[in-house]
Amino acid sequence: MNSLRLIILLTGILCFDSSCREKTEYSKFSGFAQGTTYSMIFENPRRFNVAAIQDEVEQILTGFDLSLSLYVDSSVLCRINRNETDIPDEYFTEVFRRSKEISALTGGAFDVTVGPLVRAWGFGPDAHKNFRETDRDSLMQLVGIEKVDIRNGRILKADPRISLDFNAIAKGYSVDVISRFFDRKGIKSYLVEIGGEIRARGDRGGVFWKIGIDKPADSNVVPGQDLQAIISMKDRSLATSGNYRRFYMEDGVKYSHTIDPKTGYPSKNRLLSATILASDCMTADGIATACMVMGKERAIEFIERNPEFDAFLIYSDDQGNYRTWISEKLIQYIDQSR
Ligand code: AMP
Ligand code: MG
Repeated sequence: MNSLRLIILLTGILCFDSSCREKTEYSKFSGFAQGTTYSMIFENPRRFNVAAIQDEVEQILTGFDLSLSLYVDSSVLCRINRNETDIPDEYFTEVFRRSKEISALTGGAFDVTVGPLVRAWGFGPDAHKNFRETDRDSLMQLVGIEKVDIRNGRILKADPRISLDFNAIAKGYSVDVISRFFDRKGIKSYLVEIGGEIRARGDRGGVFWKIGIDKPADSNVVPGQDLQAIISMKDRSLATSGNYRRFYMEDGVKYSHTIDPKTGYPSKNRLLSATILASDCMTADGIATACMVMGKERAIEFIERNPEFDAFLIYSDDQGNYRTWISEKLIQYIDQSR
């Protein structure tokens, strides 16, 4: 979360860039939603009222939270987790189906049934660790996406204690949902960023959108302040998962917030952050989390086997220095000269 910040390197509402054939007018706005910040820029030759667009975006995001947030007690997700209803809405159904596909694609590294483990490790809404080794077996019985399904519009759980956690994918999905809103308005060039997850449509007046990747240092608490690289993007989505801003220390051990569904333990490896590019942001978000679970070697193999994705991985070497691995197709879009 917040591991990456959109850096608006091409600032200004009007683009007078030499590469612009004509003056292209862009509007931008930003705010808070889903417990994080968002910022959006869009081509606006039709002079949409920016405040009205922002209002609509915020309404969509509020509705989104009422469906999928773990932090809104009355959300569809929370009610399904508490077995108060078995009827999912459209957001739930879409994210659930894609979550199943991503679990299959990642060999189970990504699995939204980690909910009970996430809570036990203190990464849930109540942020209180009560994991005990003796509870592991019973918690593990609740993990496995094959234990949940949607049939005839109803959710079916193999065990009522199973609870779902869409946090690894919901932010990316919300970026897709807002992007569809801009598509419906007929806007052909925009950049939507929510909590560091991004979708870029088109380019900006002939110039690719530029996105900053933060250095994954624990001390790098201000997004955008200390950059590792800049990625140029067009018609693609990007999401980052990192274990350096969301973790806690206990007795000198660093616990990351991604849980390995195979072991029940927080993943522990040299991978510090995984930035994934995919066509949609929900997928990029899910794959980024899965890569953190897989660790550096398996994540590289996975990306090489799945050429529809690109990756920018930051890991530490034996001496604790930062190293990067960039998928081959992405190299030409990366500027690391900082
Ligand atoms: P992200 O920041 O997108 O990597 O999402 C991390 C969040 O996803 C965690 O805080 C958990 O709520 C949830 N999560 C942790 N491990 C997994 C996993 N293996 N599969 C799916 N979701 C997970
Ligand atoms: Mg994710």
